[in-house]
Amino acid sequence: MERKGILVVISGFAGAGKGTIVKGLMERYDDYALSVSMTTRKPRPGEEDGKAYFFVDKQKFEETIAAGGLIEYAQYCDNYYGTPRAYVEEQLAKGKDVILEIEIQGALQIRKIFPTALLIFVTPPSAQILKERLLGRGTETPEVVKQRMDRAAQEADGMGEYDYILVNDTVDKAISDAHAIITAAHARPSRNTALMKSINDALDKMAEEK
Ligand code: 5GP
Repeated sequence: MERKGILVVISGFAGAGKGTIVKGLMERYDDYALSVSMTTRKPRPGEEDGKAYFFVDKQKFEETIAAGGLIEYAQYCDNYYGTPRAYVEEQLAKGKDVILEIEIQGALQIRKIFPTALLIFVTPPSAQILKERLLGRGTETPEVVKQRMDRAAQEADGMGEYDYILVNDTVDKAISDAHAIITAAHARPSRNTALMKSINDALDKMAEEK
């Protein structure tokens, strides 16, 4: 039976460990394709163009929007971020589950355009742990940490819009929990209509043959 890909949106506070969870899913399982976003943010040390993001200037970003090349985009802390359309459509058609690691405004746009998308919100067990993780990363200036904590307070208001809340206490468990959530989504009747029909039809036929 043909497997249909699910569009999986993973959001969460900066410092919640989304990136590590997504990396773990990609390493452990073969079912996933990771969408690389386009952004106007400057690369952080070690971030490669085309891998972490497609790093572009504002003009190129706006041209891509105008050409319909993004399925969603949003502004986050003074920069634009968006999801390139072609890769997502191509991988879904191949039956892969496509992972988008995006913030909440983008997630809500995706929910409108793809009502069957699966929305997962990643959070540390508490706000205090979130702050400690953000400070511990050491890659951001104090102003940026403050900006991201303020943003976290706003994003917390939207957690209820997601299908699942994933608590990232230990990374290993969070990765297997994420996979379990996605596996469960595949088992929904709405994603198994062809299988249900074939079993139904076959059973009806068997009943007639008696
Ligand atoms: P960062 O600058 O830390 O890499 O990302 C900042 C925020 O932008 C994160 O919450 C990240 O998930 C989000 N983000 C990354 N790519 C996209 C995208 O394509 N669209 C949207 N809406 N948000 C994104």
